[in-house]
Amino acid sequence: MSRDFVYQSNPSTVVFGAGKRAEAGEWVRKLGRSRALVLSTPHQAGDAKALSQTLGTLSAGIFSGAVMHTPTDVTETAVKALEDAKADCVISFGGGSTTGLGKAIALLTGVTQIAIPTTYAGSEVTPILGQTENGRKTTIRDMKVLPNVVIYDPELTVGLPVPMTVASALNAMAHSMEGLYARDRNPISTMMAIESFRSFKASLPGLIADPHNLDLRAEAQYACWLAGTVLGTVGMALHHKICHTLGGSFDTPHAETHAIMLPYTTAYNNVAVPEQLAPIGEIFGAGAGAALYDFAKSLGSPLSLKDIGLTEADLDRAADIAAENPYWNPRPIDRTSIRQLLQNAWAGQRPN
Ligand code: NAD
Repeated sequence: MSRDFVYQSNPSTVVFGAGKRAEAGEWVRKLGRSRALVLSTPHQAGDAKALSQTLGTLSAGIFSGAVMHTPTDVTETAVKALEDAKADCVISFGGGSTTGLGKAIALLTGVTQIAIPTTYAGSEVTPILGQTENGRKTTIRDMKVLPNVVIYDPELTVGLPVPMTVASALNAMAHSMEGLYARDRNPISTMMAIESFRSFKASLPGLIADPHNLDLRAEAQYACWLAGTVLGTVGMALHHKICHTLGGSFDTPHAETHAIMLPYTTAYNNVAVPEQLAPIGEIFGAGAGAALYDFAKSLGSPLSLKDIGLTEADLDRAADIAAENPYWNPRPIDRTSIRQLLQNAWAGQRPN
């Protein structure tokens, strides 16, 4: 077996622990900044305001207009708010949508970012930004968008509703799944992916029964940091391409789309790379795709694309778009195989 690899870690600081959001102001100072604009969605404006208050004179106010898929017009409005407030850094408080806004602002202005994630999406540890302009989503990879400091405070995830907890965690598991066979994987990314699966398995079933359990929340968030780091360091393939197509062209909800597709894309690629995906079978049971389907089912996750509003008539166009630009995948892909994969996922049929 070849031992050749390139290992490169991303330059960011990760602070992990219950209550650590209280250190946000200290990090603003440590980064040499003095006026932080707190970002959030409208839904989390109250929490963003509370955070802003704890920052005292280090706060330059809040901008609570973040929305899904980082539309460029929202970014422009936020940049104006940043300039008007004379802010020299942003604190992105929320899920992937808010983190995305912070990244988009940083890309345009070079401003320093602190991210305080409240979902399991993982965007806070990736140099990847997806943005939409005139309904088209484009993705870039640029170190300028990587948050400088990430504060993981599991207390902030205690209130994450159970369906969102499940969808967001399965979304994160998809990063680790594709990381296991990535062409540019390295021993550390593989270790992180496997460790994340162990932690998700150890935390999610208990969280469904006891969503306020802080230890389980910490375990799940630890798993999501690992999975996000895998996404941020190695390349993704079929799974992320299909989810990008469904979210971008059919407006399906981000986390749920990943959650539903995960067993199907895993089963599809397991035929080609069973050794690389073997850790999933070891942790979740025989047949990686089927085992993840059973795990998702046990958590009450939606299991079919029809559950999230995709119609059977959409599948042809989805297959056309997903097969449009060739990209690397461990198992060859063509329009016919993608169409069949989508059919199975649409029907919610348990993969073999
Ligand atoms: P989200 O950020 O859109 O959050 C969904 C809703 O849940 C929002 O209204 C939010 O305010 C609310 N919410 C967040 N945390 C909560 C909590 N603890 N309790 C209650 N409500 C809460 O959803 P998401 O799945 O985290 O992010 C999806 C977006 O992130 C997509 O646009 C996706 O493309 C992007 N993303 C990017 C990357 C990357 O590396 N660039 C990685 C993953 C996701």
